[in-house]
Amino acid sequence: MSIGTKTEPNRAGVKSGTTVAPDVSGHVAAPHNLFDTVRRQFDKACDLISFDPNVRRILAKSTNEISVNFFTGYRVQHNSSRGPFKGGLRFHPSVDINEVRALAAWMTWKTAIADIPFGGAKGGIQIDPSKYSKRELERITRRFTFALGDNIGPEYDIPAPDVNTNPQIMAWILDTYLSTMPPHTRQGAAHVVTGKPLVSGGSQGRDKATGQGLVYLLEEWAKDQKLSVGKLSYFVQGFGNVGSWAARILAPLGAKLLAVEDHTGAVANEAGLDAEDLCNFARTAGGVRGYPKAKPVDHDTFLSTKADVFIPAALENQITARTAPLLNVRLVAEGGNGPTDWDGDSIMQERGIGVLPDILCNAGGVIVSYFEWLQNKRSEFWDLEEVDSKLKRRMSAAYRSVRDTASSYKTDWRTAAYIVALTRLETVYKERGIFP
Ligand code: NAD
Repeated sequence: MSIGTKTEPNRAGVKSGTTVAPDVSGHVAAPHNLFDTVRRQFDKACDLISFDPNVRRILAKSTNEISVNFFTGYRVQHNSSRGPFKGGLRFHPSVDINEVRALAAWMTWKTAIADIPFGGAKGGIQIDPSKYSKRELERITRRFTFALGDNIGPEYDIPAPDVNTNPQIMAWILDTYLSTMPPHTRQGAAHVVTGKPLVSGGSQGRDKATGQGLVYLLEEWAKDQKLSVGKLSYFVQGFGNVGSWAARILAPLGAKLLAVEDHTGAVANEAGLDAEDLCNFARTAGGVRGYPKAKPVDHDTFLSTKADVFIPAALENQITARTAPLLNVRLVAEGGNGPTDWDGDSIMQERGIGVLPDILCNAGGVIVSYFEWLQNKRSEFWDLEEVDSKLKRRMSAAYRSVRDTASSYKTDWRTAAYIVALTRLETVYKERGIFP
């Protein structure tokens, strides 16, 4: 296997960046390099299993890092030993190279834990999409796709939605990519991007997939705890794709939603919030702030909500040395990527708060992206029942591997999730060898 690093010249003049995601109260955590968190998590797991030093060296870095300069955009391809690079595309002002690097590495672990034949990648453009018209966003998306050129491809690197990107943006990526191909090859390339609208080759169940996968995991966890999901109380940070779908799927099961926070503020109601109604309100109002059937609460009060489960489904570094002591829950189900930093994690472990780690907990999105990719390749169209039942089977299998690994290594679930991923990656490198 080639260790090829085709790292592109850094045309955007990237400095070693920091990711500082302000929380909604305006509190800005200390400058934090997100990739350092990945490295520490990775090192902890590698040390515990005496990981092969050569494979460790390879996985410690990205394979390719492409920067696009015009606006500032990145595509980081972390690893493709198990299959094509795969990962979302984010539009956000805090996007920087370290953030994208971290998110790309997490994708490699995630696809390995989910046991789907993909590697890991991530992309991002450093913009605030709310400041652009729809036409401008279309032009930015198309220009970025064009600039990436052959760095993406249906059997090479396959983008998908992430923060502030959606099926419409995926349709523009598809159209731009296909427009650059010879006409007779276009029909066979719809799987260059996933998370597309249904009529453009999308899959049933992709939109809700990450939230749905999270709920399947919660069901597994509740079963192990001899609890019923329908009796759980919970609160959610981030009410976009992941957070709002998780809440809307949990509602008919009977779980009680106590509070929700997004970039506009936080609202709470001890008697329970109607997820569907709040979602409709947020769609029209641009956020949850001002929702009339709840009271506004500040960020720390929100985080202190007494509940069974907290679902962070927004940005990184929300559970930290400052905020972890505020939590009053049994379980954190990480719908978002990297919501917990290193210190936050240690505090949760000391306090006995369980964690369904991001690389396990939000794998539903990439699993159904894989189903979309397969359907496109085979010219098939699966119904929702088929997608959901296959998703459930894969989420349950991933849950069991991580749970059993945590128990046999007597370690925390995040480290166990890394061990599951690293063991699968190590096997591939050992079987194929390292070229030359
Ligand atoms: P989204 O753009 O649909 O929603 C993001 C939500 O976060 C919005 O409700 C926004 O208001 C909220 N938010 C932003 N800044 C905030 C702040 N400072 N405080 C509180 N809330 C804030 O994004 P999404 O697709 O739901 O992604 C959310 C997280 O889930 C990200 O970490 C993403 O990487 C991860 N994820 C997404 C998918 C997917 O399929 N979309 C899959 C796996 C993981």
